[in-house]
Amino acid sequence: MPRNLSPIAGEPDPDGADCVGCGRCCHHPRETVHLLESDEARMGPEVLRRLTVLQEKPPFMRFMNNDGHRCAALDVSVLGQFPCAIYAVRGDDCRVVEPGSPACLEARALGHLGGSIEYQRR
Ligand code: SF4
Ligand code: SF4
Repeated sequence: MPRNLSPIAGEPDPDGADCVGCGRCCHHPRETVHLLESDEARMGPEVLRRLTVLQEKPPFMRFMNNDGHRCAALDVSVLGQFPCAIYAVRGDDCRVVEPGSPACLEARALGHLGGSIEYQRR
């Protein structure tokens, strides 16, 4: 489990003003952000090829790829800033983690995405 980002205290801005400076929910182990067919259609072939990975064995699920302990789509080119490089076409798994949601608050408390995402997918 990733542990290199520090927790962030308190609730974030409900409109997402704190997200780029936070990025905790985009830090997670491999095969965490699962993509549905609708996500794949929204992303298009170039993003799928560059930033996602398809399982080699059944059930052949597709996930966002990882760069170490974080999502491969996270832009870490500026220190302390964590914008999503594909924000407009990000998957539904990412969209359910709204600022202030249980998964968001857990991610801020842990420094990375935790188990609450499993409940929000249902
Ligand atoms: S953990 Fe919450 S505040 Fe941080 S980037 Fe994710 S949604 Fe935004
Ligand atoms: S696709 Fe974007 S929003 Fe989703 S985990 Fe990756 S960097 Fe974060």
